[in-house]
Amino acid sequence: MALEDYRKKRNFEKTPEPEAKLGPKRKKGEELFFCVQKHLASHLHYDFRLEWKGVLLSWAVPKGPSIDPKDKRLAMQTEDHPYDYGMFEGVIPEGYGAGIVMLWDYGTWEPESEDVEAALRKGDLKFRLNGFKLKGSWVIVKTHGYPSASSGRGGGAPNSWLLIKHKDDWAGPVSITEFAPLSVKTPDADFAEILQGKTPALWHSNAPAKGGDTGAMFKRIIERALSMSSGQNTTTKKTKATKDTKPNTGNARAAKKKSAAKSAKKPATKRAAKK
Ligand code: MN
Repeated sequence: MALEDYRKKRNFEKTPEPEAKLGPKRKKGEELFFCVQKHLASHLHYDFRLEWKGVLLSWAVPKGPSIDPKDKRLAMQTEDHPYDYGMFEGVIPEGYGAGIVMLWDYGTWEPESEDVEAALRKGDLKFRLNGFKLKGSWVIVKTHGYPSASSGRGGGAPNSWLLIKHKDDWAGPVSITEFAPLSVKTPDADFAEILQGKTPALWHSNAPAKGGDTGAMFKRIIERALSMSSGQNTTTKKTKATKDTKPNTGNARAAKKKSAAKSAKKPATKRAAKK
């Protein structure tokens, strides 16, 4: 059963994550859901999920999606997630995936590949996204054909794919993860705000990651969440990337992209995305 791996990895007495059940049956041509969850766990990554046949096909993208067609973002396929997971945002206090989940983007997707099943088997799925931050045409492609330097045979793990933006009106040389780093579910919340009032005290001595950059990030976020909880947040500063960052792109086209991302209060209509 499609969600068996999802179920096996989790103890639903201890995690607030949704239980393993299938989503709605869709009619042909009906809009499908997609989301990207920014997940600070043992490492920061972005979980990219496409609704298909009642579950969310899932890939962990370490660097996150890029709207720059020059970037090929590694995407490791992970276990299918339940449809209900798509709007999940919160704190996984312990166990598998322990950390903070932010709903970074969501919306609808539609295949551009004729036969989605065949495209998935082949490892080359073309599609359009219509989210708050991510829009337009994309491809996710399996890396199995790439030669590996050491063996000369196909390189990359069997579950490794690349997520790539196609050139269109929604592409541009902007780092979308830096430009728009915050939640689309809890307006403009960052990790500390999602964590606030949940488990920062528990994690103070035992964060999901301790060493390195991720450990340092957890430390900062936990401290900020604790200070917010105790009403001392006057000195804390929220990241202002969405407001102040001016990507050094120097052209009108990128600025257009920027304002499009900035003004994206809700996923654009299908018509707008197709323009
Ligand atoms: Mn994850």
